[in-house]
Amino acid sequence: MKKVLITGASRGIGNAIAKELAQKGYLVMANYNHSEKEALYLQKELQEKGYPIQIKKADVSKPKEAEELVKETMDKWGNIDILINNAGISQIKLFTDITVEEWNNMINTNMNSLFYVTKSVLPKMIQQKQGCIINISSIWGMTGASCEVHYSTAKAGMIGFTKALAKEVAPSQIRVNCIAPGIIDTQMNQELTEQERGEIVEQIPLGRVGNVIDIVKCVNWLIEDNYTTGQIISPNGGWVIS
Ligand code: NAP
Repeated sequence: MKKVLITGASRGIGNAIAKELAQKGYLVMANYNHSEKEALYLQKELQEKGYPIQIKKADVSKPKEAEELVKETMDKWGNIDILINNAGISQIKLFTDITVEEWNNMINTNMNSLFYVTKSVLPKMIQQKQGCIINISSIWGMTGASCEVHYSTAKAGMIGFTKALAKEVAPSQIRVNCIAPGIIDTQMNQELTEQERGEIVEQIPLGRVGNVIDIVKCVNWLIEDNYTTGQIISPNGGWVIS
């Protein structure tokens, strides 16, 4: 049974990935931070259907908590086959209004968490000469977004991280890839007004915002494939074509 660690699985994209992989027979460790009720619900829902899933609270923006998350998972299972670095936050703010605290929180949560979690997971993957790492970035990491300089910076960092690490660990048969979604219907976008949503949809050639299943399909493909590494795959409805 393949073992998967997913960060930020209490809600949205991470939650959908956790459900899919648990129902496909993977052993899933679903990390959460604030949303304990949602994480417990996920666990209950899947365990009642007979799928083994475990949940673990950890703030992955903090090195000690991220390390502890991996250590506890390893102590239980012995290894992690697939790591999905999904936890993230966003904020819309003029660059000149961003405080140092907000900047650091954005970078720590979206980008530094990759360093903390992946660094702890990798040694065993290297020893086993197999592994799959998927980082969830954003189109804003590819193109930059006005009023989201801190978010775009962190997401661009995830792309550089993916490319460089993919080259370094490929000789150990570990694949590192990145999904950079366009706009996906989750709580992350709940503050958009109907009008703002409509204006965005008008710019998307496929004529709709994405949903979590669009991302789950990419994850499934990246897990099953064995010749793709260092790539940035962007399910975005044609909004950004590079
Ligand atoms: P979401 O619905 O707001 O969910 C975010 C998840 O991340 C939650 O489960 C949250 O857990 C977790 N999280 C946040 N900070 C954390 C921390 N410090 N430690 C552990 N978990 C943490 O957002 P989403 O749309 O699913 O986003 C998932 C990923 O996709 C993010 O990296 C996001 O940047 C990226 N993305 C989203 C979109 C979009 O349009 N939705 C587009 C491009 C990229 P708790 O609630 O338990 O704290």
